[in-house]
Amino acid sequence: MILWWSPSPQPDLGGSEEEANASEELVAPRMSTKGCYSSVVLEMEIADLAINAVLQSALVNEMEGSGAGSLAFDSASHNLDEYAKGTANAGIMLGDAILSTQTFGVLKTIVRGWFLDKARAHVKGAASSPADLVVDHFWRWVSSTTSNMFEPALHRFLHGLMCKTFLQLLAEFKRLGTHVVYADFNRIFLLTTKPDAGSAFAFARYLVTAANSQELFRHLVIDVNQFWNYLAWMDVANFGGVKVPPEVASSRAPPPQRFEISMDWNIQSLLPGVLQPVFERNVASFIFALYSAKRGATDGRTPLRAIYNLNIDLPGETTSVINPAKDREKKAAQKSISQNLTRRLLADVASVKRRQASAAINEEDATALAFPDLPGARSDRTNPTLELVKAVCEIFALSSDHTVEVQILRRNLLDLLGVREFSTEAAYRNPCESIIVPIVICARCNATRDVDLCRDPDRLPTVDSETGEARPPARKSWVCHKCDAEYDRFQIEQPLIEMISRMITSFQTQDIICVKCSQSKDDNLAPTCHCGEGYRTSLNRGEMRTKLKMIRSGMCNANFASIKLIRLQ
Ligand SMILES: [Zn+2]
Ligand SMILES: [Zn+2]
Repeated sequence: MILWWSPSPQPDLGGSEEEANASEELVAPRMSTKGCYSSVVLEMEIADLAINAVLQSALVNEMEGSGAGSLAFDSASHNLDEYAKGTANAGIMLGDAILSTQTFGVLKTIVRGWFLDKARAHVKGAASSPADLVVDHFWRWVSSTTSNMFEPALHRFLHGLMCKTFLQLLAEFKRLGTHVVYADFNRIFLLTTKPDAGSAFAFARYLVTAANSQELFRHLVIDVNQFWNYLAWMDVANFGGVKVPPEVASSRAPPPQRFEISMDWNIQSLLPGVLQPVFERNVASFIFALYSAKRGATDGRTPLRAIYNLNIDLPGETTSVINPAKDREKKAAQKSISQNLTRRLLADVASVKRRQASAAINEEDATALAFPDLPGARSDRTNPTLELVKAVCEIFALSSDHTVEVQILRRNLLDLLGVREFSTEAAYRNPCESIIVPIVICARCNATRDVDLCRDPDRLPTVDSETGEARPPARKSWVCHKCDAEYDRFQIEQPLIEMISRMITSFQTQDIICVKCSQSKDDNLAPTCHCGEGYRTSLNRGEMRTKLKMIRSGMCNANFASIKLIRLQ
């Protein structure tokens, strides 16, 4: 079905495409719930969402209750009456994406054919067939603007279908008794009720089988690749805990006495080098204390009363059933927070404060306590000790069970620095903005992930945990997390250029609105609104400039060639 052959990102529609504005950005669903989770959290990867969405498009539509089920997306036969009325060729709509029924019908037939070919090749025992290749790279083909057959409407429509399938999948997981900690198109973190990885392993297998047995998710590939025995979750760039690989979880052996704490905190890298080890030590002790409290409460000898309460508590909710193990855990954790952790942190902060005071006369200390210059970092941070206190307290506050102890600790620490508890400078703000290039696809292994220009740990300088000296970033460019292949730089640069041009277009075509009543201006001549007030632009100029500056600093850091073209006044 060669409809056109166009090397540009726009379809060849005989010239009319030149007048169309760049369409709005596709927003992929993303959800994240802060908290400390002491039951096992499953980390899973999702693949083949696009193929599944096309093959099961009829079901998606039916579930939504719109259209006549299987007929809506298929090129159904029409009678003469419908042709006469003109309803036969009406496009199908999904959100703001409109596509003609025929186009989608053709696509669906092709994909179905590929899929059958792939299945046949597998039955014959062929290791890799051309059908394998096209099925695996289907989404890359649809979303690539260099594919020569790129059709924005089709891309948008398919993206909408994927969103719907994805939300149904999350709803299914919820029905099966889990709670979503984090979810995007590639990764899902699910909170279960299981106390340890061993017992969660069987549950994870059941969960995947149950989801795959549903017609709607039949072609999805769901892979549970990590079990978190304990997880402190702030956002996708800031989390830490105790993780167990599936091989260990499947062995059903009791959890080993020694365990490692995995730390992945972006806010750490934005602190001055010498403060990073202090941060790491205190946050690790916090996770250690909470995890030890959990293990102590269910000492392994008494049978785990795992499913005491079938409903998972949302953060901040209290259980209606009294759970003695949970109670013991809470008491032990409270004790270690209010005694050991508080004492150590107070001592640490006092010594950092002394060092900061001496930095006024000591050049060496002053450079050691300077904030690192990183892309996307907020520039209004001046007090290193205060930033350390705020970052650590923000992580401690993730645990909703120990709010009182953490509040007391925070008040004491702020008191030490002479900052009032509820003043604006004591309020926590994320020190780093994020510029996300969504769905970057690896050309070698086809894995997808979102690349964060400012917060990718591979590209941030690391710090020696002993001396606090900064070392250059682990990698020079972004790589696939699955196969370690380097991404094509243009794949990251191009969406950024598009982002900028979209921002410029939306700024130039924006509405102007009344200062007083906020109604948009609806004629060309009137100098004032009906109510007599003047007009102002609806988009904030300062915000736009900050965002552009941020993108520029990110691109500058990555050494993109097109950076020379961006000049900000
Ligand atoms: Zn890869
Ligand atoms: Zn007005």
